[in-house]
Amino acid sequence: MRPQNNAMKIEARDYRSGLPLSISIEKGVYKKIERIPNSHDSLSFPWIAPGLVDLQINGFGGIDVNSEGLSSEQFEILCRKLFENGCTHFLATIITRPRNSYQKYLQKLNQLHCALPLNCIGFHLEGPFLSPSEGSRGVHRIEWMMKPDLSWLDEVMEASGGKVKLITIAPEIDRELSIQFIREAVALGSAVAIGHSEASWEIIQSAVIAGAKLWTHLGNALSPVVPKFQNVLLDVIASDLPYASLIPDGKHVPMVAFRALTKALGSRVILVSDAMAGAAASPGIYHLGHIEIVVDPQGKAIEKQSGRLGGSTLRPFDGVFLAHKMTGTPWWEWWDAYSVRPAEILGIPHGLKEGNEASFCLFDLSPRPFLRELYHKGKKVYCSSQ
Ligand SMILES: [Zn+2]
Repeated sequence: MRPQNNAMKIEARDYRSGLPLSISIEKGVYKKIERIPNSHDSLSFPWIAPGLVDLQINGFGGIDVNSEGLSSEQFEILCRKLFENGCTHFLATIITRPRNSYQKYLQKLNQLHCALPLNCIGFHLEGPFLSPSEGSRGVHRIEWMMKPDLSWLDEVMEASGGKVKLITIAPEIDRELSIQFIREAVALGSAVAIGHSEASWEIIQSAVIAGAKLWTHLGNALSPVVPKFQNVLLDVIASDLPYASLIPDGKHVPMVAFRALTKALGSRVILVSDAMAGAAASPGIYHLGHIEIVVDPQGKAIEKQSGRLGGSTLRPFDGVFLAHKMTGTPWWEWWDAYSVRPAEILGIPHGLKEGNEASFCLFDLSPRPFLRELYHKGKKVYCSSQ
């Protein structure tokens, strides 16, 4: 690597083809990407792949995004811990909270983000328009749930400085209002997902026509007993919903179910961590907003009161290789499911392409997958000390 007036050159192996590349970076973008012909030492090059894009980060590295006391120092720790784990882009995710608390909290998050525009690229509001049914609500509080509300949408957009980029709703709670809500949210620049929901195939299809793009963490926030032919899993697979996210930690969706769902969904799969504060931190007691979560020594995050899963402790870089291990599908395909595909949902040009933002990972595969360095907008922001 030869830094030169804000310019540099990197030699690395393309994550999809394995071919050696010479990559020139200038002013934070890829200026030239060329194949190196007949390179004998390319096997010693690190692998290069676009940085991971996580649509659902509730917390990380001991820090809870939903905590009223979130300080700028804590926000920086969270962002940098995510750099260390492969994320060049993520959405800070807010779970269901009281209606009158969104405005103030999003103003605060927007201020934190403006002061530190690193890898957080906006906010994902998971709730408050979710299904109150016991099978679907997960750890979201029923008393704070409500029907889709267009005035709430204007408020959160304004308070966040337009940085709400994804909203997860359950459209069956009011079909007509939900359709209006989806159209309006998309017009204001936020993608819409369906999740914590029991929407039928017909309702999913009408949400897709209105602009819904994704199902949030498919297989979770779902009753453990469902009718064999009428259930959310089949309805999502059979629908025209462009994408569905899954948590590849082996705890949220067991291996066989993960294989079945991802085989059926193919290139519609997006990987997310749904990480909470206990990710990249020691076992112990953490918070997810108002909820107390116990992280056991195996990394399972359980709501103390109900025994339900309350987020994950998955590290994004590990998620790619866990998905590969569970399915046998090549790791580079999982890398796409955790980088360029979620970026597409947010309308962000991403990937190793001239003109794109140079935000990428350099890593080894053997003796084990290991992140060496991470670059954000052409700048090295993480380097392993090993
Ligand atoms: Zn959830």
